[in-house]
Amino acid sequence: MKVVVFDKREDEEKLFKIWQEKNPDINLDVYSQALTMDNIDLVKGADTVCLSSVGKLDDRLYKALKDLGINVISQRSAGFDMYNLDIMNELGMKLINVPSYSPNAIGEFVVASALFFSRNLNHIYENVKNHDFRWQVPILSKEIRTLTVGIVGTGRIGRATAKLFKGLGAKIIGYDLFKSKEAEEILEYVSLDQLYAQSDIITFHVPATDDNYHMVNEKSIATMKDGVILVNAARGTILDTKAVLKGLDSGKIKGAALDVYENEVNLVNTNKTGENINDDLLEEIIARNDIVYTPHIAFYTETALDNLVSFAIDESIKYLKTGKSDSIVNK
Ligand code: NAD
Repeated sequence: MKVVVFDKREDEEKLFKIWQEKNPDINLDVYSQALTMDNIDLVKGADTVCLSSVGKLDDRLYKALKDLGINVISQRSAGFDMYNLDIMNELGMKLINVPSYSPNAIGEFVVASALFFSRNLNHIYENVKNHDFRWQVPILSKEIRTLTVGIVGTGRIGRATAKLFKGLGAKIIGYDLFKSKEAEEILEYVSLDQLYAQSDIITFHVPATDDNYHMVNEKSIATMKDGVILVNAARGTILDTKAVLKGLDSGKIKGAALDVYENEVNLVNTNKTGENINDDLLEEIIARNDIVYTPHIAFYTETALDNLVSFAIDESIKYLKTGKSDSIVNK
């Protein structure tokens, strides 16, 4: 069997080598270039292709792959909006994604970001830079075990995050459109209004939908506790960024950890050192010390990368051998 991998990043190199050593009977061809109509010949003789597309795939590629005998594509991410599933369905092709590569990776990042603000590290760092070494009331901190953490979206990542905060002794409340039994073992479900009114830390773990576009806005922020800490490691569109800035200015919000940003699409995993990013809002976010902005990187751990690489390849091989996979996007 032959698998052709495209979009290989430097950080994945070692992982493909290890996978190949463990699976000597499979022929793994690995390329760092993206799959295009110009290099489609590299797929000749393959049984499946494994991609890590970040942009929309050229619609012509599906038919070209099908003509080369490819019936299944695996994508090394949870997101799959870059694929045209209508064309894939018409051609009888399947797409496999990696829905859960490490919820804990994101959960840990959320806890770290929340602790950064709850322990006032932003202010302490600033004071020390000014040679102000005092212990004083503005930086007197609260321990997590005295706080209430609100989890909006109690799916895989929300639950993993809740468990970590629970381990630190926090009271955990949650809100989701659908309650899960697993989550009920960790947290108490409340309404969204109650969650906003009671939480000292609120962390969002919902997908971006039309319904939750700017669910955090001036109106909802006004219903939150004074000095609330907000964490968004889900999708940028959930928060009205300008409303968050207003909330920070007024002191309503103590700190905001934003791993995602509404207009991040052309910036994620790029190096723009020395360049003008032409985004005043993001420049302000980066400059503020009551915001920690990180470039959609909460997932980025060795464990997560390892799971992305091995699951995507293993699952497509399993599908080719058995006709079954729980991770087919277009069932
Ligand atoms: P999941 O599908 O397991 O859980 C999402 C939950 O949100 C579900 O329980 C669903 O019922 C609930 N939900 C959907 N819309 C809602 C709404 N309007 N109000 C309340 N609940 C709602 O998903 P997951 O794997 O836990 O991922 C959660 C989010 O994290 C996704 O947006 C995903 O894209 C994002 N994510 C971020 C990173 C990162 O590095 N920052 C990495 C992976 C995933």
